[in-house]
Amino acid sequence: MKILLAKDRATNLNLKLSADILNYLCRANNFIEFDQPVEVGVPSAYIDLNVERTELENLIAPNEVGHVFYCTSRRYENNYFFYSNYATTILSFHGWKHCTNLPLENGLFYFIAVIQASIIDDSFRHDDTTGCIYDYLWDKTAVDVGMKTGQFCKDCLTRVEKTVKESPSLSNILDDVMSILKILSTSSKWGNSVFEYEKQPTRSSDWASFEDDVAQIYRELGARVQQNVNLAGFQTDILIEENTPSKQNLRSAVECKFSKNKVGNRIVNDFARIANTLKEAHLVDKGIIVSQSGFTSDAYLVSKETHINLLDFKDLKQAITKATSDLASEEKAHNTRLQSAGTLLKTEESTKKMREQKAPHLFAIIPFSSEMDDVYYLGIHDTAKALGCSCDRVDQIEFVGPILDKIYDSIKNSRIILAELSTPNVNVYYELGYAHALGKPTILITKDISTSPFDVKGYNHIIYSSIRDLRSKLKARLEAILT
Ligand SMILES: [Zn+2]
Repeated sequence: MKILLAKDRATNLNLKLSADILNYLCRANNFIEFDQPVEVGVPSAYIDLNVERTELENLIAPNEVGHVFYCTSRRYENNYFFYSNYATTILSFHGWKHCTNLPLENGLFYFIAVIQASIIDDSFRHDDTTGCIYDYLWDKTAVDVGMKTGQFCKDCLTRVEKTVKESPSLSNILDDVMSILKILSTSSKWGNSVFEYEKQPTRSSDWASFEDDVAQIYRELGARVQQNVNLAGFQTDILIEENTPSKQNLRSAVECKFSKNKVGNRIVNDFARIANTLKEAHLVDKGIIVSQSGFTSDAYLVSKETHINLLDFKDLKQAITKATSDLASEEKAHNTRLQSAGTLLKTEESTKKMREQKAPHLFAIIPFSSEMDDVYYLGIHDTAKALGCSCDRVDQIEFVGPILDKIYDSIKNSRIILAELSTPNVNVYYELGYAHALGKPTILITKDISTSPFDVKGYNHIIYSSIRDLRSKLKARLEAILT
């Protein structure tokens, strides 16, 4: 089938290059680009699906085209990403930069894969964010996880493979989806455009041997090690199992990052999300990232909040050399070696950053109500101030221009984001989602954990019964993050 890619003027997307790469990857479909921007509908209004479909078909769809894929920067009234009847798809990139830092072309590839996957099987959607191609994306920022994970979960893959067995004509489409997802997730994980796929560190000998080196160190530390394990649909670089002194079995998922750049907070946040899912499923107890080139100081801050251990490969290697040389007793050495690898993190880097950031700024996302005023002023603001931090919420900031932009700027420019989730509030969730998408350290507080939506339940909440209780717990948490 021929798939025609088109866009409006305001959408900054290279369709020619997209079509070239898609044709290189895909067998079932042939992609062509429409050579000029197409304007349909009323620019200032919401997308009017029925009217615009007809306009599109009249304007650009010659008979031989099977599917028109139209990208617009305007939005649907319900804020959906797209509607498709498999002949015309209108994809909205409205607010894209608030969902992810990845470029639009990654989104185009993702949604082409999503629609192809729906052609194979449209019987099921995950309501939660799992990273599976069949995620419903209720929370639009989940598209970021989807692009980086780029896969079918285990259950969906089983179902889809069964469908393909029954209708072999679909197998080409499945192959195409797999090819698209492979380059999409590899690029997206590194924060790159799918256009730069060639430049990625592929699973070359360097990368593979880095993972092997890390695995070997853990083996030498006495852990049981498996490489490239599929856990609940997530490809895990290394799974280690070790016995604690109390003879408990401790399982850790280890993510290896081989790059010349330091690992940043986004990678930590993304991995924390996966690690949390695996912890909830009782498949692992801990998440660890080992980096070839260290971590940014923001990554260290996020790691404290998300309970992910960050290990610099150099430190990991040194830890084992040092521990081996003064090996006292086998068991003792084993345990201290693993511990010292963990404690080496409290290196100068985070303390140096702390010194630079004398007055860390907190931004509170909190619903407006008189009850919340007390929570904010007495519980949050005063506690932050007592620790030498500055703190505000949106009504305290004087500003000109749209309020939403100001909120986004405040989230972007603050060190720590604090969100009050006791009462379900769409704006609070949306702003929190934005903070998570940016990889900001967040502190979630609530009176009742059961009101938190599934997506954020995995994060560690402060649950408080009174303002006094909140003050003492928040103080402890802030001290843990800031020192
Ligand atoms: Zn799935």
